[in-house]
Amino acid sequence: DDALEASLEQTAMVVDSEGIVTPIVNFSQLSVPAELSSTFAGFKEPTPIQACTWPPALEGRDVVGIAETGGGKTLAFGIPALVRLINSESKNSSKSGKSTVSTLVVAPTRELAIQTHDTLTALGKPFGIASVAVFGGVPKDPQVRMLKNANKVKDGLTTRIIVGTPGRILDLMQEGACDLSEVNYLVLDEADRMLDKGFENDIRNIISSTKPSAERQTMMFSATWPEAVRRLASTFQRSPVRVTVGSDDL
Ligand code: ADP
Ligand code: MG
Repeated sequence: DDALEASLEQTAMVVDSEGIVTPIVNFSQLSVPAELSSTFAGFKEPTPIQACTWPPALEGRDVVGIAETGGGKTLAFGIPALVRLINSESKNSSKSGKSTVSTLVVAPTRELAIQTHDTLTALGKPFGIASVAVFGGVPKDPQVRMLKNANKVKDGLTTRIIVGTPGRILDLMQEGACDLSEVNYLVLDEADRMLDKGFENDIRNIISSTKPSAERQTMMFSATWPEAVRRLASTFQRSPVRVTVGSDDL
């Protein structure tokens, strides 16, 4: 697709220690199960952030994506999340007493958490994978109950994903309701907004409760690239591939 390739040259820059990543400019280049690719049925082509995030993310690399909202970030990190979940064995970890949750998405607002949860719920359903959303402004008890039952198979679904806002995730962790010890795919969505809202310490505490960075894929997305976001990335990511969509004058 020449038009998209030309627009990618203008709008997307991929910085990688090992050279330039070849973007996936056509859905046919994306080798994922049919139940996942059906998500794209109504779409013409991958968005720039998807085109550049999928190749390194599907290889297991950490990615920092700098892109405006509305660019299709949810599927940019959601598709590799599902691929990793589908390929992992921890479906049976309920038997070993370990948490079945291995994917965590942290988002700045309740609305974003719900939207992302809805998308991941739809992606996971054909594979027996469920998501739980946790956010403030509503009673904690139903969320505590959902998390406590996370290891139980219900309607053929096992909870493997948590999507939430930092304050409530931390609150539930401190109550012993939220076990992040098996999380090996972590997404920080709209990181700059989370830092603006004063969530930096909460986020650091949450990340420290997941698997160590050597065993974890860490995806970070932000509309801007200020010093505080860079610090967060350098603390928690391992030689991330940096994808910039739009202005590279950051
Ligand atoms: P962001 O998180 O970057 O703000 P979203 O993931 O919420 O963006 O996506 C914005 C909208 O674009 C959603 O309605 C989504 O379904 C749609 N979308 C995602 N990928 C594509 C694509 N490749 N082509 C067209 N629309 C897409
Ligand atoms: Mg989003």
